[in-house]
Amino acid sequence: MISIELLPVLDDNVIYAVAVDATDGANDDDSAFVVDPATADAVLSWLQQPGPRGRPRQLEAVLCTHHHADHTGANLALREATGCRIIGPAHDLERIAGATEGAVVGATVDVCGLALRVLDVRAHTRGHVAFAMDDLVDVVIRHGHRGLRAVEPSLAGRPALFVGDSLFGAGCGRLFEGTGKDLHAALSTLAAQAPDSLVCCAHEYTRSNLVFAAAVRPDVAAIAERISAFDDDCGPSRQSIPSTLGLELATNPFLLALKLPDPVQRVFDLRRQKDTFRP
Ligand SMILES: [Zn+2]
Repeated sequence: MISIELLPVLDDNVIYAVAVDATDGANDDDSAFVVDPATADAVLSWLQQPGPRGRPRQLEAVLCTHHHADHTGANLALREATGCRIIGPAHDLERIAGATEGAVVGATVDVCGLALRVLDVRAHTRGHVAFAMDDLVDVVIRHGHRGLRAVEPSLAGRPALFVGDSLFGAGCGRLFEGTGKDLHAALSTLAAQAPDSLVCCAHEYTRSNLVFAAAVRPDVAAIAERISAFDDDCGPSRQSIPSTLGLELATNPFLLALKLPDPVQRVFDLRRQKDTFRP
């Protein structure tokens, strides 16, 4: 059984904590990995909570999509506390704090008995990768700030994409180190994944991104519909992520731009427009 829990930290970061139940009966532990741990406390207290079968959780690995401190800040503390592996993009490993092994684009990372595909989504940073988990997620639990917690049945039964800052709800990450061509390639790679996938992005920016989306694409009814449904979709945890790739393909202006003429220039111009957008 695979469960994903969203741990909100700092102002708007989300750490994905993934637990994989042992199925062979030989292992008494629920093995676990976390993606983009900004801070250690939330992860350490999550590990101490009993898993679905009341067993302790063992942190096998930290996965980092890119080197920014709000995605790697807990690496050293978690390695110190648990001895876990620290996995980051192989072609940018020197910038991943405490890295013990590289994730090679086009290959898989084997963690907790799962094989996660490593996707090249460089643009936000030159080393950025995403991890595609094709195994279906059984349980998704959102933890809002102030202890709010909600099990989300509508998000279960789907594969998951851990995309870091390459794609957000209705938006994408800033172009710090890449080119417009890189951004186009990264978005195209993500757009080609299974549409029912969960988009597990590392920041909750959806509401402000939707304001920009509505301003630049007033012709897309699905964007207005997503805004109307926003509060309901957030549920009691007040989180809107993870969304699904299908929803992003219909409402994310950066993915919609892939279908327009001259898409490389379009996504670049859109990103520059977003950088200075004031609603
Ligand atoms: Zn970043």
